[in-house]
Amino acid sequence: MKFKYFLIKGCFIENFIKRPWMVEYMDYEKMLKEGIKDLPKDLIKKERFEIPKVKGHIQGNSTVISNFNQIIGVLGRTQEHVLKYLLKELATPGEITKSALIFRRKVSSSSINDKITKYAEKYVICSECGKPDTKMIKEQNVNFIRCMACGSKHLIKGN
Ligand SMILES: [Zn+2]
Repeated sequence: MKFKYFLIKGCFIENFIKRPWMVEYMDYEKMLKEGIKDLPKDLIKKERFEIPKVKGHIQGNSTVISNFNQIIGVLGRTQEHVLKYLLKELATPGEITKSALIFRRKVSSSSINDKITKYAEKYVICSECGKPDTKMIKEQNVNFIRCMACGSKHLIKGN
């Protein structure tokens, strides 16, 4: 048993000194890294672009959304713009405080999620290629979406 162990160990050490497997291993690591770099970008982007579901609770007659900033971060638009849209769509007064988004009435999380998805479809997702890597630009007082992925430019209907 002891002898066997030494044999194996000896073999291992010998290989380690010659390092044939080590070289192979490092190449493999390098390949892996490069492979990840070469993955289709939309695969990575799609993973990244998952709008978090709202986390919230009812407080009196208000609805408090605690992860609004996280949602904003994924949407890549300003707090003000998203807020304005949600207030209008949900027909409710509301505001952003330091830590939360507050609607001044009871709103179900499913209808908020629904409106946020609609917001993304209208203001974030490129209607040409479906990617979220877009910017909102204003030209002569008209809002457009410029896609960084495919280069197309779309008028935002209804603004
Ligand atoms: Zn596009």
